[in-house]
Amino acid sequence: MAGMLYLVPTPIGNLGDISQRCRETLEQADFIAAEDTRVTLKLLNHLGIKKSLVSYYEHNKTFKGEQIVERILSGETCALVSDAGSPAISDPGEDLVKQCAAAGITVCAIPGPCAVITALSISGQSTGRFCFEGFLSTAKKSRREHLESLKEERRTMVFYEAPHKLTATLADMVQTFGPDRSVSLCRELTKLHEEVIRSTLAQALEQYTAQPPKGEFVLVVAGAPAPEKPETEPADAEARLRELLDAGMSRKDAVKQTAQELKLPKNTVYELALNIPE
Ligand code: SAM
Repeated sequence: MAGMLYLVPTPIGNLGDISQRCRETLEQADFIAAEDTRVTLKLLNHLGIKKSLVSYYEHNKTFKGEQIVERILSGETCALVSDAGSPAISDPGEDLVKQCAAAGITVCAIPGPCAVITALSISGQSTGRFCFEGFLSTAKKSRREHLESLKEERRTMVFYEAPHKLTATLADMVQTFGPDRSVSLCRELTKLHEEVIRSTLAQALEQYTAQPPKGEFVLVVAGAPAPEKPETEPADAEARLRELLDAGMSRKDAVKQTAQELKLPKNTVYELALNIPE
């Protein structure tokens, strides 16, 4: 019988955030696939768990993925972890999940620490609708193209960013989204120096140009404001009045209904109605 793949999230800063279920899964798995085995070994030592580790990272993921799939098909259970946070979210693992799904292997994702959700929750931005944009490219042209494609995006946007690229990214965002767009810079989440700076793109750029950024960042950027509703032209109101009058409605009711429908003051519509012969 085939085994299973478990996706095990690990703390993004605070070791206390590992859940009981994650511990048990790491203990019970036949082996652990880890992004950096040295990082995972530290976590396992902290948890008092001894387990066989295989490395699975960006540059070996194709052939290591095949080996892992083989082992699972032969009955072993694998727990996949990344260096921090939820595996497969801007982390190696996405391809392994695809490979396992294609091989008919059951994949179980354990909920837990994830930088996107932690940042979004604390950001103070609208959370009803959001899109996760991951890391922007290091190449200026593709970074600009990516941002340009989001110019009209109305949902809150979440980006991962490395500190050494932060000011370049903020400068590009100022150009694309405008200097006054609201942004929450969520830094070192769950760690000792956790900080959330809620400001505008231009202010954030000024601050981090003066004082180079340190630590891990998630940027939560407000979506584009809704386009302003075009003002109702008097001609629209007059046309609607005529329609209602032609349909046999009384002058008083036609004024009332037009004012309601077009959200205009009743007096304004009444004035327009005076131009229409009885
Ligand atoms: N899979 C992980 C997750 O979803 O939580 C993310 C891995 S990704 C390679 C690493 C990025 O996540 C960092 O560059 C940073 O943008 C963000 N990140 C991770 N831990 C963070 C923390 N404690 N505070 C702020 N951002 C963090």
